[in-house]
Amino acid sequence: MDELDRLKLEVSIAAQGDGFNMGILQMGQLSPLTCPECNGVLVRFDEGRIIRYRCHTGHAFTASALLSEVTKSVEDSLWKTLRGLEETIMLLEQSNKYFTDTGNTAVADQFSKKSKETRELAQSIRELTFFKQEQLSEEGLVEKAVEE
Ligand SMILES: [Zn+2]
Repeated sequence: MDELDRLKLEVSIAAQGDGFNMGILQMGQLSPLTCPECNGVLVRFDEGRIIRYRCHTGHAFTASALLSEVTKSVEDSLWKTLRGLEETIMLLEQSNKYFTDTGNTAVADQFSKKSKETRELAQSIRELTFFKQEQLSEEGLVEKAVEE
């Protein structure tokens, strides 16, 4: 399939979102990467210096856009992890209060200890989310290389 035919087909897939039925999986090189939007397998297309990816449900990315989306999904996962840890702390502290109020201090202490450990873990995740994570893109890294 020549490049123009494939481009026409891809425009059609973009318009109709029907890459699977149109055979997108047979048109490119299967990659080990998954679509950040739907987790579908990605097919890779090398077009000169440009590398593009498309999943079978129809999402499309340049290599740079995929890099950016993947780092964004890592950040989203960290936020979800942080939310889960904070909910864990709230539940542990609720149980700690209940056992303290009912005079069962040995059990209350176990909940208090776990709550403190979970707070430390949450703080590490918070720092990682705020300070360590940056959304990467080819353009950003090229700019950085020019600045340095
Ligand atoms: Zn997808």
